[in-house]
Amino acid sequence: MQPPTDRARPVAILATGIWLTLGLLTRLAARAGGAGGGSSSSHSSGGGSSSSHSSGSGGFSVHSSSGSGGSSGSSVFSLFCFLIFLGIAGLILYLTLRNMKSWSTGKPGTPPPLPDGEDEGLAAFFAANPDFELDAFRQKVSDAFLKIQAAWSAQSLAEVRPFISDGIYQRFATQFHMMALLQQQNRLENVRIFDISPVAASRDGEYDVLQVRISAAMNDAFVCQLDHSLDTDGHEAFAEYWSFIRKRVATKPGGDIYQNQGCPSCGAPLPPDMGELCRCTYCQVMVNSGEFDWVLAEITQEADYGRDSRWAGSAAPQLPQALAELTAEAPDLAVQLIEDKASNAFMQIMTALATRNPAVVRRFVSDDALAAVTALIPQQDIIFNRLYLNEAVLFDAARVDGRHQLRVGLTATLQRVQLAPKRGFTPVDPEEIRAGYVVTLERDAAAVPTKGALYQHQCPNCAGAVGDTLDLNCQYCGVPLNSMHNEWIVTRFEENGAL
Ligand SMILES: [Zn+2]
Ligand SMILES: [Zn+2]
Repeated sequence: MQPPTDRARPVAILATGIWLTLGLLTRLAARAGGAGGGSSSSHSSGGGSSSSHSSGSGGFSVHSSSGSGGSSGSSVFSLFCFLIFLGIAGLILYLTLRNMKSWSTGKPGTPPPLPDGEDEGLAAFFAANPDFELDAFRQKVSDAFLKIQAAWSAQSLAEVRPFISDGIYQRFATQFHMMALLQQQNRLENVRIFDISPVAASRDGEYDVLQVRISAAMNDAFVCQLDHSLDTDGHEAFAEYWSFIRKRVATKPGGDIYQNQGCPSCGAPLPPDMGELCRCTYCQVMVNSGEFDWVLAEITQEADYGRDSRWAGSAAPQLPQALAELTAEAPDLAVQLIEDKASNAFMQIMTALATRNPAVVRRFVSDDALAAVTALIPQQDIIFNRLYLNEAVLFDAARVDGRHQLRVGLTATLQRVQLAPKRGFTPVDPEEIRAGYVVTLERDAAAVPTKGALYQHQCPNCAGAVGDTLDLNCQYCGVPLNSMHNEWIVTRFEENGAL
C-alpha cells in the first residue's frame, strides 16, 4: 500500500485538463456509475497519468455500476463522444509511453530505464532482479485480468483459484453467495485492456510486492431476477491497481500458475475446482503461497488508491518501528498477508451477519470478537445487495502481553436489503454506502506457524477439515481451533462508521 509517486506529471496535468474540459461528454459516453458511495467523479490523482475514466464503482475487482438503467436515445452522439475520447486517450497513452521511455522493451538482464521521479521501490526491484521479464509479467497480469472478468461473469472461481490469494478468493466467494441469494448476474463482455504498467514495488517480509495499474474498458450488464428495476447495462472505462506478491526466494522461478499447467511443484494435475483451499492434493503444497509464481493479493479502485485511501492518514507513527521489532521475532510476518487475512476474516464476518450464523466465524475469533459479531446479527433476513471491500490497510502494530497485535482498517461499499419471501426485497440503505471497520488480529509472540489453513476451514494443528460449527475443539485432534499459538486470531471487530 505504498502511495503512488508523481510520475509523468506534465502528462497528468494535460490529461486532467482535457478530462475536465470534456467531463460532460465523456460522462455521457462512459456512464459514470455512481456506485461506491459518491465516488463517481473522475480521479486523476491516483497514480500519475490518468488516461482513462475511473467511474468509481467502489467495486473491488470488477466494475459493476448501479447507475440508472437503460441506454439513452443519443447513441450516435454517445458514439461520437466515445470516438473523441478514444482519440484523446490514445494521445495521452502515446505521451505517457514516450515519457516512460522504453519500459515495454525491457529485456532480461537490462532493467528498463525509469523516468525521473519513478517509484524508488520499482528501481530497487529491477536492480535486485536483473532477470525479471517485464513482458512475461505483463502477460500474466493480462491473463489474470481477463480470466477474472470471465470468472466474475460465470460466478465460478475454478479457473482463477491457483493465482489468487485466500482473501481475494473470499471476497469473490462472498459476493457470489450474496448474488445467488438475490438472483443476480453481472455479465462483463468485450473486455479490452488499454495499458498495464507497474507503478510501485516494495519488500514485505519474505515477499516482493508489485503494484500494477491496469486501465481497461468493458460492457457491463447487471441483471437482478428478483427486482428488475436494479438492472443496468452500459460500457465502462476505468483503472484499477492490482497488487501481486511473490516470495523473494522462489523455489521454482519460472513456474506459471496462470495457464493451468498443473501443480507448480510436482506437476500433478490440480483439481478442476480447488474451492477455498488452494492445495495440491498430491504433494500438499499451497499453490498460491507465492513460492512458485506471482499471486494476486489485492485489488484497489483508482478512487481508493494511495493518498486517496481513507486510512492513508491513520497509520500509527510508531508503525514502521513496531513492525520491524515484531518481524524480528516472527520472520513470517508480512503486511500484505496480514491485510489479506483481515480481508478474509471480514468477508466471512459479513457472511455470518447475512446468514445470521455466528458459526461461520467461530473457529478464527476470540470469545470477545464472537460476542461483538453476534451482537451485530440483525433480527431479520438482511443481506447485501452489493458488498465490495474497497481496501484493507494495516495501521497499527504492537506487542501486548506476550502477543503480537495488528490492527487493520477496512473500507467497504455496501447496500443492505431486507429479504421478503416470494416478494423480492426492500432496501434498508436507500443506496450504496461506504462504511469503515477495524479488525484486530493477535498471535502469540512465540507462535509456531503451521501449514494448516484455519481461515480455509482447516485445523492449524492437524490439517483436518473443519466445518462451520460453534464447537471450538478440532474433532480430530481436540486442540482449540482459535489458539493464538499457531495462527492469527480476530480478537476485536469494530464498526468505524459510515464514510
Ligand atoms: Zn503438487
Ligand atoms: Zn486438528
